[in-house]
Parts: sequence; C-alpha cells; structure tokens
Amino acid sequence: MVSAATTPFARLVLLGVLCVRAHAFQDWCQAADKAVRSMHWDVDVCKGIDWVGAALSVENRRLVYAEFGQKDSPNTTLILATVHGDEVTPFFVALKLTNWLRDHKKEIGQTRVIVAPLVNPDGFYRPRRTRMNARGVDINRNFKTHDWELLALRTWREKYRQDPRRFPGYTPRSEPETLFQEELIKQFKPQKILAIHSPLNMLDYDGPSEHLTLSQFPKDYRKQCERLKTSLRAKSTGYFPGSLGNYSGRELGIPTLTLELPSADAKQAMRYWLLFQKGIKTMIDFHILESRS
Ligand SMILES: [Zn+2]
Repeated sequence: MVSAATTPFARLVLLGVLCVRAHAFQDWCQAADKAVRSMHWDVDVCKGIDWVGAALSVENRRLVYAEFGQKDSPNTTLILATVHGDEVTPFFVALKLTNWLRDHKKEIGQTRVIVAPLVNPDGFYRPRRTRMNARGVDINRNFKTHDWELLALRTWREKYRQDPRRFPGYTPRSEPETLFQEELIKQFKPQKILAIHSPLNMLDYDGPSEHLTLSQFPKDYRKQCERLKTSLRAKSTGYFPGSLGNYSGRELGIPTLTLELPSADAKQAMRYWLLFQKGIKTMIDFHILESRS
C-alpha cells in the first residue's frame, strides 16, 4: 500500500506548505539580521531556530516565538523581550538565549522554554526607535487588569502628565502586541514568566509570595514562588495598571520576573548576556512543584 504522504500530490502539498512557511519568516529573518549586523552583534538570528507565530503587529510585522525543550513539560518558562522598541539590549540577550537553547538541548532537560524576542517590532524598526508601538501605546500598560478602567488613564494624566511614552491606550487589550503576549500565556500555560527590559538595572518580582497580598493562592504555592524570588534575589517594587507584572503576576498568580538590564547601549549587549545568563538559566531550571489552584 502506498501511504498518502508518499504520493506525488501529497509531496507537492507538503513542499508548498514548507515554502509558504519559509517565506513567511524570511522577511522577519532578513529584517532582524540587518538590525543585528548594524549593531555588530555576534548572534544567529534564524540559523537552526524554528520561529513560529501567526499574529501580526499594527504595521503587519510578524510577532514570533520559538519553542525549546520538552513539549507539555510541567516546567515551562515564557520569556518576553523588546516589549519597548527602543530597548535594544533585551533583543540581543533573548536572541543569545535562543542560540544557547538550540546548542544545549541536553542541558535543558525536562524543561520547556518559549522565547518571544521582539514583542514590539514596529517600535524597534522605526528610524528613531520608540518605546511605544505604531499607535503610540505603551504595551506594558495595555493588559486588561482589574484596575485598568479606574486607574490606567487617570494615572497617565495625573502621575505621568500625559507622557506619550506611558500612554496605556484608550481601552485595554487594544493592541495586537498585547494580545500576542496574552495568547502565549494562554497557549503555553507557563509556570514562570521573564520579561527582559532596560535600563533600570534591577530584577523585579510580581506574583504570589508569603505575604498576605495574594492570599487567594495556596500557601505551599506561595512558598515556592517566594523561593524562586529569593533564589534570584529579586525585589518587589510596585506595579502599574495594565502592566504585565500586574496581569500575569498579581492577577493570574504566575511568578513574573522583570529583568531590567543596566542600559540600552548596544555595545554593552554581550556583556549583559555574560552577566545575566546564569540567572536566566537558574530561573528556567527552577521547578515550582505546587499547583496554583
Ligand atoms: Zn521597558
């Protein structure tokens, strides 16, 4: 019997699918490669990395991620970088991480890692890079948190004096880049999230802890989250209406770490990778044994 996959027609269909797929990510690879070369970075953008993702940014750029490690692992880490388009060092660190994950399959063990290295491509590819997306929205203020309706625009007007760099949008979840991150959380159900930013030089923690603030989560789970926080020496410094830490950390109860690299200076990117790779790997390895509910 001849299997369907070996018939000439089936082979043609498969070839067609592969060509469309390769073509779809070719634009992403070319643009990213050009940016990487312009900054004299030593990192592979697409070699051996299977980028996926169907969502598009406001200006129709592809929003991509790559998956590494064991599928359906109970120890999944989601890594989000370059949510603010003018912060270039997080892009390098996330790409370096994909290269490391590609080259160290055995060391990843039973874990799974999802990396989205360029969440805000429109801001990144502007001739003058912007923190915001193409519609002028700060993607890290656009998640639908419980306090959004009451506080997001009020905080922006009163506390930030309508600083365009902090504009949360007129409604929550209005931006494709916000929905893309939400989808990754829904699809992969990560046990931990790491967002890479710059330039505040700190590691911030949002999520359950042993304190009373998030007591709706089981005590043993809170303890494990606290252990993760302590092992990474992270601090909790507050949260904003519509921020990722508020949404995934405080409301969904997924420990969310925000690594703020010391600067957005492209020349320092390699130094930051060397400095922070151990901490990132510690986070990936950390297994939260207790359940959230
Ligand atoms: Zn940022």
